[in-house]
Amino acid sequence: MSKLLQEIQKGKVLVSDGAWGTFLQQKGLQLGECPEAWNLSRPNDVFDIANSYIEAGADMVETNSFGGNYFKLKNYGFSDRVFDINKAAAEISREAAGENRFVLGSVGPTGKLLMMEEVTEIELYKAFKEQSIALEAGGVDAIMIETMTDLEEATIAIKAAKENTLCEVFCTMTFDKIVGGEYRTMMGVSPTEMTEAFIAAGASVIGANCGNGIADMIGIVKEIRQVNATIPILIHANAGMPIYCDGATKFPETPNDMAKNVLQLIDAGANIIGGCCGTTPAHICEVNKVVKQLK
Ligand SMILES: [Zn+2]
Repeated sequence: MSKLLQEIQKGKVLVSDGAWGTFLQQKGLQLGECPEAWNLSRPNDVFDIANSYIEAGADMVETNSFGGNYFKLKNYGFSDRVFDINKAAAEISREAAGENRFVLGSVGPTGKLLMMEEVTEIELYKAFKEQSIALEAGGVDAIMIETMTDLEEATIAIKAAKENTLCEVFCTMTFDKIVGGEYRTMMGVSPTEMTEAFIAAGASVIGANCGNGIADMIGIVKEIRQVNATIPILIHANAGMPIYCDGATKFPETPNDMAKNVLQLIDAGANIIGGCCGTTPAHICEVNKVVKQLK
């Protein structure tokens, strides 16, 4: 078992990092520009993001590789650079994390829908395998599959990472609250269905990311805990429901708003808490203060 999972088993709550995409934009990433190409062209800026989360107190940091799969990189003409781009992403975050913090290799959806026959299962497996191997080569501790909405794509990603690397495999989906107060992904998957499928596929940490803010995550964690009492749960919450204004997306929750919900999230059963879109090092710093008071 990895050191990260041992910490959780000891009863520790761990703090993860915050947003990458919105942080890159703040550093000048242009619309239509490939975020992952910055690992090669602007490594210092990428390092800066990872480092600011470590400095904010995060126990782990992700990599700038969310869209680092073959299909997404192909849109930018980088389909032959998958290995270099992902390996560099992992190395940059490893450098920021040092040996005592953990690195989670971010793997996002391909953007290709199995249901619409835009891609085959074999092609998906191949793409996730290629990306996971490169992230492992760069030194990640775990493969962090995230923002998934399709159960099949997510389980293919888990298997590809599990069968081709020695890394732990984490996987989270993005849920919305639907009429009646239940949670579903855009493709109709419930937290209960996710829990059963992900554990069967070999994930060692599961949970939710993105979405409409940290308060909604409490219900999702409760539902996962009803299905499984022990699987470690990771939550990367957005800074509230995104507001579209003047062509820009704004996230309303302040670091304090986020911190206010942390204890309830832990009570519900969350083991790792961090942020997604709109969260900043200031958010992670406040979350960390709450978590560190527990010890
Ligand atoms: Zn997000």
